[in-house]
Amino acid sequence: MKYDFLIIGAGLYGSAIARCLKDYGKSVLVVEKRKTVAGNIYTERVCGINVHKYGAHIFHTNDEEVWSFVNRFATFNRFTNSPIAVYKDEVYSLPFNMYTFNRIWGVITPKEAYERIEAEKKKAGIKNPTNLEEQAISLVGEEIYEKLIKGYTHKQWGRPCKELPAFIIKRLPVRFSYDNNYFNAVFQGIPMGGYTDMINRMLSGVEVITDCDFLENRNELSKKASHIIYTGPIDKYYDYCFGELEYRSIRFETQILDTDNYQGNAVVNYTDEDVPYTRIIEHKWFEDTYEHISNPHKTIISKEYSVETKVGEEPYYPVNDEKNSLLYDKYKKLADSEDNVSFGGRLGEYKYYDMDVTVSKAIKASYEWR
Ligand code: UDP
Repeated sequence: MKYDFLIIGAGLYGSAIARCLKDYGKSVLVVEKRKTVAGNIYTERVCGINVHKYGAHIFHTNDEEVWSFVNRFATFNRFTNSPIAVYKDEVYSLPFNMYTFNRIWGVITPKEAYERIEAEKKKAGIKNPTNLEEQAISLVGEEIYEKLIKGYTHKQWGRPCKELPAFIIKRLPVRFSYDNNYFNAVFQGIPMGGYTDMINRMLSGVEVITDCDFLENRNELSKKASHIIYTGPIDKYYDYCFGELEYRSIRFETQILDTDNYQGNAVVNYTDEDVPYTRIIEHKWFEDTYEHISNPHKTIISKEYSVETKVGEEPYYPVNDEKNSLLYDKYKKLADSEDNVSFGGRLGEYKYYDMDVTVSKAIKASYEWR
């Protein structure tokens, strides 16, 4: 055996754990199916603009260990995510905060907003929310749910809110303050120069083979190391023996436009069910400021369409509803019985992890081999 570790997938989890193991003096080989590293955080420079090819990624964390780890490989700018929601011809602030409450009800003080939500909660008669719809109404009331959550969530997950777990909506803060910062995080930013450069630095000195599908070369590759860390879809690893787990995928419609400024913000959500896409990303605003524009003649936008993942397509979001969670538990049992294989990342663990949790999990998993 040539290597201590064979890591399948050069996405964020695979690259982070590869770095940690390499730092402990282990020999590591990373095998990546795509022609590029960085998984879904891959960015590509087009017309001087870093395009988030597989969707918007904004790094945010409260974890100092994670923050200092990623800062070894990139300088982060001071980007603060302040998306807006467009519903028909109305514009709302996100996350739900005093600007949103003022726009919807005309209330000015936190007390007024709080009383309004309490009254709506009472009217709806929800005590212990059991699904996303009930959770959303009890957090922000019926009207905000109808305008800003119902259509968006249905588009994003392809399922009505009543059939989705409550925790998904809890990712969004509700604030009784005038604060448009989307994330409750002490540290936030975008790696200057793009995520791909950050991952390349993370992988420096690590052997990486791209354009190589592990599952198609499983027998031969497995012999190359005493331990395998697999970060692809867990159901695929086991050849879908219990059935397919469901994932949501995103179809991107990306355009280069002859203007300096298309929407004046990095992220604009379209919450109306009649608009077929969920959001539009204008990539330059992740790294530019209004006073400092990378390309004054062009901009690049991506419309995101959420679709069900079919076998062979790229999975993005695990659907952590009851049916899929039960199915995942079966795969997890198989995974737990393995001695020489471990699973990690959004697809390997079938969990809706943010980037910081992914990095933290990788760092912590590597401790076992310190
Ligand atoms: N959501 C919504 N309206 C919005 C934005 C988000 O209803 O304008 C809901 C939706 O159900 C989504 C969840 O909040 O799945 C979490 O949103 P988040 O922005 O965290 O999703 P991500 O950035 O991971 O796609």
